[in-house]
Amino acid sequence: MAHTCIHWFRKGLRLHDNPALLAALQDCKEIYPVFVLDPHSPVNVNVGINRWRFLIGALKDLDCSLRKLNSRLFVVRGKPEEVFPKLFQEWKVTRLTYEYDTEPFSLCRDKDVVRLAEEHGVEVIFKVSHTLYNIERIIEENNGKAPLTFSRLQTLVKSIGPPRRPVPAPTSQDMKDIKTPCPEQYEQIYGMPKLEQLDQDPERLTVELFPGGEQEALLRLDQHMERKEWVCGFEKPQTSPNSLSPSTTVLSPYMTFGCLSARTFWWRLTDVYQGKKHSQPPVSLHGQLLWREFFYTAGVGIPNFNKMEGNPACTQVDWDSNPEYLAAWTQARTGFPFIDAIMTQLRQEGWIHHLARHAVACFLTRGDLWISWEEGQKVFEELLLDGDWSLNAGNWQWLSASTFFHQYFRVYSPIAFGKKTDKNGDYIKKYLPLLKKFPAQYIYEPWKAPRSVQEAAGCIVGKDYPRPIVDHEVISKKNIQRMKGAYAKRSPHSSKESPSSKEKGGKRKASSVLDMLMKKKKTV
Ligand code: FAD
Repeated sequence: MAHTCIHWFRKGLRLHDNPALLAALQDCKEIYPVFVLDPHSPVNVNVGINRWRFLIGALKDLDCSLRKLNSRLFVVRGKPEEVFPKLFQEWKVTRLTYEYDTEPFSLCRDKDVVRLAEEHGVEVIFKVSHTLYNIERIIEENNGKAPLTFSRLQTLVKSIGPPRRPVPAPTSQDMKDIKTPCPEQYEQIYGMPKLEQLDQDPERLTVELFPGGEQEALLRLDQHMERKEWVCGFEKPQTSPNSLSPSTTVLSPYMTFGCLSARTFWWRLTDVYQGKKHSQPPVSLHGQLLWREFFYTAGVGIPNFNKMEGNPACTQVDWDSNPEYLAAWTQARTGFPFIDAIMTQLRQEGWIHHLARHAVACFLTRGDLWISWEEGQKVFEELLLDGDWSLNAGNWQWLSASTFFHQYFRVYSPIAFGKKTDKNGDYIKKYLPLLKKFPAQYIYEPWKAPRSVQEAAGCIVGKDYPRPIVDHEVISKKNIQRMKGAYAKRSPHSSKESPSSKEKGGKRKASSVLDMLMKKKKTV
């Protein structure tokens, strides 16, 4: 029987390495590529304007690529559970395909849609292609638990073997006997959304540095892969949080939306590495992609992963509720220029370097303001182009020393850290032009500048730019003690690494994160 298919795009906004899309085209006479737009769904209500713009760009690009194959993208408005039964009937659908998602919200949504498909006699095919590996397979290999250390993840994926090769994009030849019937009112019903329809004010947009879409993603990937020496020498800790143009790939928004396949990225790197000396995980670019797998695995294997309460891996901390501090951090008014410059870049451009994320996350939580990582997670979710449920939750837990990382006594200085890579404070001057006339000596600590220097710079601290909201030296020491208290109350099980099943000589209990920490401390 020739099928009438819906391929449901959610993430995976691409044609390359899209095995579920290829499955849709098997024995198919009609295909409807669909994106369901539901701005009111709980996962979308917090999305900021830059990410909406990125999504619209990605959808336009996808539609453009589909047109070249004589098809179109149908942007259907509403809730998936409500729109699909209507579409199944209207288009006489016999098959539904989609890329597998792992987040709790998506799993719940998909369960409902699969049930509805079954009720309508619609066959469902889904494929894993958002991650390098089938995340559930990694967990299975680890006796049903998420690995809590990177090295454990590495052991597990080594035992599984290299990620699968990406599959090619469909061609006109693949589509030659397949139609996409397009109604006359296509534009009115299924056309591209506009920001205004998403309750966003386009007047608030700033320059678009990272336009959404698969073509843009592949172009950027090509450009990076041409820099073979850079790729082979890439070591994440050596990249700079405050360079004036990004020191890492900025492929993350493209990965989040699936405009770029992780496997395509992985194998392109493998090609570049071939026959050359190159850096290794965790610091290499392959390593970065494995970090992504690490947090995806944690997101699947650890209950309530985006919360502190009910999350068995997470240290329970008595964070303060302090709306004033939170607002100052969110709105770049902490009085620490390095922190405020990063938060300004985040709001304006939607992307900040990984170590810049470290600096502001540590500052908000255990370093200075003692505010829950869940609050920071929400702000990042709104402002980041690459906002990703698993990666955001996992990295916030890491930085707040709640899960995975336990050296809470290592606190980033909001003053000294930025100076290491930008003595002159050029990054601060770019994002906080108000401070641009301060001499380098005071740019990280303008409150220390004599009045005459502040006057000459045209910026009086306390009037034109805020005084620091905390005394870092004092508060960070106090917070270390508070953290020590939280650690003392931890259940002995919360830090235990999951047991391994694949070590030589049968099962063994892997060392706990704390054991590893103790070993590390001895060698420091
Ligand atoms: P590159 O260094 O070029 O790395 C290539 C790819 O590897 C990235 O695109 C990304 O997909 C992956 N990757 C790199 N670092 C990490 C990491 N630490 N964890 C997981 N995957 C990684 N990343 C997100 O994509 N979405 C988020 O919501 C997110 N929230 C974060 C929150 C905090 C508090 C912190 C500290 C980090 C967060 N990260 C998040 C991880 C990381 O900062 C970004 O993935 C990275 O900076 C993206 O820039 P890039 O593409 O240039 O990275």
